[in-house]
Formats: sequence, structure tokens, C-alpha cells
Amino acid sequence: MGSFVIPEDERWGNLGRAVLFPRAFARRARYAPLVANARRSFAENAEGDFFVDSSCIDCETCRWVAPASFGSARDHAFVERQPRTPAEEHRALLALLACPTGSIGTRSKHNVKAAQSGFPDPAAEDVFHLGYHAESSFGAASYLLRSSIGNVMVDSPRFVAPLVRSLEDSGGVELIFLTHQDDLADFEKYRDHFGARVVIHEDDLGPRTKDAQLVSSGLEPAELAPELLAIPVPGHTAGSMCLLFRQRVLLSGDHLAYNPKKQHLVAFRSACWFDWGEQIRSMERLLAFRFEQVLPGHGHPAHLTARQMHAELEACIRWMKARA
Ligand code: SF4
Repeated sequence: MGSFVIPEDERWGNLGRAVLFPRAFARRARYAPLVANARRSFAENAEGDFFVDSSCIDCETCRWVAPASFGSARDHAFVERQPRTPAEEHRALLALLACPTGSIGTRSKHNVKAAQSGFPDPAAEDVFHLGYHAESSFGAASYLLRSSIGNVMVDSPRFVAPLVRSLEDSGGVELIFLTHQDDLADFEKYRDHFGARVVIHEDDLGPRTKDAQLVSSGLEPAELAPELLAIPVPGHTAGSMCLLFRQRVLLSGDHLAYNPKKQHLVAFRSACWFDWGEQIRSMERLLAFRFEQVLPGHGHPAHLTARQMHAELEACIRWMKARA
């Protein structure tokens, strides 16, 4: 298995992911270096500059960051179509920077500095995708919200200089909201660099988060600011939470996401580490809240009208119950 070592305090979450994605995880374990290698390029890649190599862990990030360029094979991503416009090339370079395993490469040189300035990348009004996904979070997405209490980071990206500088220029980070215990990445470095407060649910406290401020110890939603509501959604983990922003955007962590193959909202049955029945009840409680957009940690985002989202959520609950 080469030199791949799972840090002690992340072992539980990563082992679960290894069970969920055994082929991709084993392949990743064989190829620990973080630079894409054209000699390990997948045969499915469209001929041309960009390629995906065999270290891909199939986290899906490139497929929603640059959907015009990246496609899905059985257990990995590949370049389905080479970028044809400057805008498509920019999105492909953002995917390259976001990739948690350095599995995307190019055969020619590009202006990476220009691409680096693309993060934080707007995802909704006053909501930004931070990019730079971490392998220790199995490629989970993280976000920044501009709120009345300052900038709020939702889960954590890798701690990288270009992003830190961008965040410094944007006013820093006031609060780090951890949706659950798995996707911590480099949150301590952001906390220490920006002097940010950290919040997490009591039931997901762990060795790395023992000094965090607790948002909630039960099922009651907690208001962090007039436009920021922390909603406990136990299921994926005992202390999972969503963050509702301005009754428009739901930062859903690993609780809820869109699946483009199934073409509906889903929860991750085979990645439910705590209790599927509890997760269904959490989903039912979400019906009481209005939102139009879902920005998940894993899986694809969704943007509908509030009415459509409510109907989609009801359909998701029926689908979950059929899998109980
Ligand atoms: S972002 Fe990287 S690891 Fe994730 S699916 Fe794309 S190539 Fe694979």
C-alpha cells in the first residue's frame, strides 16, 4: 500500500470512505504524490491539453466546477471534452486547483496565477466556493458567506497561500462553521491565522474540535445571526448540521445533495455513519424551512425555486424511505 498513512484523528472517517469507494481509494493509496502524471492519464481522456490521471478518487468536484470539460467513468473522472473557450479553460483550471489529489494536469503551461484569483468563486449572492478541496475530507467543498457578523467559512479547504491572501483581502474569517466531524481539513490553521471562532454540534465533538464553541446540544435550530440559522440534522453523523443563509441557500454538508445521474436530491445511504432512520426524520424537519439552493460538501449543488425545492425534498424523503 505504499506510504499512504491515515492520520490518527481522521481514521474513522477515511476508513468509512475506503469502504464506500474501495477501488478509487486503493488506487489513491498506491499513488500518494500530488502531481498529475501524463503517463498515468486515463485512456478515456479526450485528446488534448488537459488530462485526469489514475490518482483520481472520484470526488466529483471537477464535474460540477467545470461540467463542460469533465465527465464520469465507472469510478473516476476524465476529460470528456477539451475546453474550447477561454471561459471553459478558466473553469477547467479552477477544477485543477480544487482537485484534492492533484489528479488533473495539463501538457502545456497555463497562467495559474490568474486561475488562483478565481477563488473564492461566486456560488450565490454573498456565497462563494473556496476551492482547494482537501483529500483528508475526501474532496469535500467548503464555502464563504458574507454575513452581518462578518465572513463565515463553512467547512474548511486546504490552507494555501493564494486563498489565504484572498481571504485577507476580503476581510478575513470571523467564524468557521463545521457541518460535521469529517470535513475538517485545515480548519485549525484558518482559525489560528484569522482568530476565528469555531462552531460545531456537541454530538460531533472530537479531539480536534474539543475547544470549539457548541452551537446546539439537541435538535433545536440555533440562530447565529438574523440571516444565519444552524439546523441540526443527525443521520450522516450524530451531530451533523446544515446552515441556512437568508432563507435562500442551504449549506448542507453531507446531509443532502443533488445527484445528476438520478436527477433528484439524495442523501448518501452507503455513507450514513450514524442512523438512516434519524436522517430521514432530519430530512422531514427540513421541510419546515424555505430555501432555493443546496450547496453540499459532497455531490452536486442544486438551484430551483423554493416551491420546486420543497417538492424535491418531499420526493427525496420518499426515495429515502424506500431504501430504509
Ligand atoms: S476533482 Fe480530482 S479527485 Fe475529484 S473527481 Fe475530479 S479528478 Fe478526480
